[in-house]
Amino acid sequence: MTCPIECSKVRFAVQVVREASHLVRQVQQELVTSALTKEDKSPVTVADFAAQALVSKRLLESFPSMGFVGEENADSLRTSEGRDTLIQITHFVRQLEPTATPDLVCEWIDRGAEAATGEFWTLDPVDGTKGFLRGDQYAVALAFIRDGQVRVGALGCPELGSGIKPDKGGPGTLIVARRTSGCFATTLADENAEWAKLSVSSESKITLARMLRSVEKAHTDTSGIGQLVTSLGIAADPVPMDSQAKYAVLAAGGGDINLRLLSPNRLDYREKIWDQASGSICVEEAGGRVSDLDGKPLDFSHGRTLARNRGVLATNGALHQQLLAGLKQIGA
Ligand code: AMP
Ligand code: MG
Repeated sequence: MTCPIECSKVRFAVQVVREASHLVRQVQQELVTSALTKEDKSPVTVADFAAQALVSKRLLESFPSMGFVGEENADSLRTSEGRDTLIQITHFVRQLEPTATPDLVCEWIDRGAEAATGEFWTLDPVDGTKGFLRGDQYAVALAFIRDGQVRVGALGCPELGSGIKPDKGGPGTLIVARRTSGCFATTLADENAEWAKLSVSSESKITLARMLRSVEKAHTDTSGIGQLVTSLGIAADPVPMDSQAKYAVLAAGGGDINLRLLSPNRLDYREKIWDQASGSICVEEAGGRVSDLDGKPLDFSHGRTLARNRGVLATNGALHQQLLAGLKQIGA
């Protein structure tokens, strides 16, 4: 079934995120083996670059005049040490795009350095790289931004179950949202499957709230989150999940809060636009609310980072004010 939102950008985002999700899952199946050492990040490197090359090529075909902002650049692949990795990436891209050569793959990847102004697409080819390597959640995230506002967002989450709950194990979920048109989900496994309209939960009792947070301590302040949970009397422990799959679960009502405090070691960190654009529009279009820790809307008009925002608070809407007050109280 086609997505209920009638729009060429939505159709494109759905198709290319589905294709890239299959590509990264295939890389994972072939390269993430039990022989892999903890230090060896090569499978996610291959998946990241291959997905960015593919999406960039598809954008060139469908929206040649629009900008493209991607997380990766091909500098390391052009060195002699990067040559073998580039050959591997080209092998995977060629399965979906037969014209791929090592030079073209580098060229496609490098289009991701374009300016983040006016009308442009932004991609996180594998959001949640640690989750990808651990066999946990990760996401392919593509969004279209116009004049600093996210207009369309799509998330491919290969490890999310069909109920869009925090549990892992697939068959994978694809969600898409368009500003003022709503948020919809389908399974990644079958392109003829039905689409369901997503709505956030209606939970308004803070004590019953289900909170989602990053797994990685380097990406958030887990002890600050613990302090907030205690001070607000939230009964359940926060659920750790990698990537923007957290936003997908929130949009589907499988959780009530997605909180991103600043890691104490990186208080100067500012979020990258590709880490928040798709997920935030999905939650907003499912009826939720997204702001920074001070309650300010996320401002996508400052280039590659959310330079004017601190952290992220996404909720079902009903709980937002209580969370902002709680954050103020603990000095977050
Ligand atoms: P998550 O899976 O929620 O932990 O988020 C993954 C994203 O965190 C990655 O895509 C990184 O871009 C981003 N990230 C990297 N360093 C930091 C940091 N110090 N604080 C917050 N996010 C970070
Ligand atoms: Mg990311």
